[in-house]
Amino acid sequence: MRELGLGESELWKSDESIGLLSAPTEIHFSITEKCSLRCQHCYTDGGDTLPDELEIEKLKRALDIFAEMKVFRLAFAGGDGLERAELFELAEYARSKGIIPNFTVSGINMTPEIAKKMKVFGQVNVSIDGAGKEYGIFREQEMFEFADNAVDMLLEAGVPTGINCLVGRRNYDGIENLFKYAAEKKVNHISFLRFKPAGRAKTLYDKEKTTHLQNISLFPMLKKLSKKYKLEIKIDCSFMPMIFWHDSAQESFKNITRYGCEAGNVHWLMQSNGIVTPCAFLNNAPSFSIFDIKSNPHQVKYFERIKNWIKSAPQPCSSCDHLNICKGGCHGVAEFVTGSFYESDPDCPFVVEYKKANNFIANQEIENELN
Ligand code: SF4
Ligand code: SF4
Repeated sequence: MRELGLGESELWKSDESIGLLSAPTEIHFSITEKCSLRCQHCYTDGGDTLPDELEIEKLKRALDIFAEMKVFRLAFAGGDGLERAELFELAEYARSKGIIPNFTVSGINMTPEIAKKMKVFGQVNVSIDGAGKEYGIFREQEMFEFADNAVDMLLEAGVPTGINCLVGRRNYDGIENLFKYAAEKKVNHISFLRFKPAGRAKTLYDKEKTTHLQNISLFPMLKKLSKKYKLEIKIDCSFMPMIFWHDSAQESFKNITRYGCEAGNVHWLMQSNGIVTPCAFLNNAPSFSIFDIKSNPHQVKYFERIKNWIKSAPQPCSSCDHLNICKGGCHGVAEFVTGSFYESDPDCPFVVEYKKANNFIANQEIENELN
């Protein structure tokens, strides 16, 4: 924060803990892996219930622990959280402990009665990757009607409602249409998420990930459309290199209050069996049971790993002005594509240009990257 020129605070005076929080601010809190849709691109492999899924009393104990740690927000995750009858009881419990619960729905199983109960959440987003034929690129096209109805029911019930859009190369051109739809509905924002390789999405990654040209044009397009349709945008942490290509870290932070890879520091994932990992997109990260938290140093160790990475980051990250905020882009993508957590995000525009300039990419690969 000091480097960004955003003022002084007692909170960041200790140089010993540069960038390391005493607790995460946000938890992705999975209460079940069960989901009847089994989408082909699901990053958590949602489908069947885990054999060791926690009972409600243990989930409440996990919430007690997060409340003691002074976590601010929970994103109820899955699977489909609506598959568990205790969803609303858990959300109320989180509220009673001073944690704001948020939720994402596909739209299936939504009714006006359920929509009213959703008022317990601070924000509910409906997954809609496009308002026309682009909706059906990752999901069943017929599901659009359910998603559209869910938006109406949530808004009618007075629930703060937004849209989650997973951005891949084939629905990219439908983004303006989605803005138009979202503005007509009067949702409060659209969140743009990068197509990343985890769960079942791993097998689709090469085919569906955004192209280099799309990565470069994404941020100017979103800014323009946000202004045109007077609609707020939120952008996934893994898209930060694509933003830094255009904006300084300071400008980006002011505009979208977003930072780069903070897995294991600003946010954690808790699976429905109580296992905590830094992020759903890191396949080989250390994990531990939430009930062992007091004796477990993994959070510190994990973030030490990123801090140490910054000290010995490879080029072009090591000489990049955005390194301290970006932290090398998405390490989940790097790990999947290169086999190493320690590489730079291979889709960062600076990384692609650096490899081209230094002949690290063969001509054919450059063609593939650019298209
Ligand atoms: S070069 Fe590295 S630090 Fe800079 S924006 Fe790209 S991934 Fe982030
Ligand atoms: S690995 Fe880092 S950048 Fe990628 S999704 Fe997780 S926290 Fe975000």
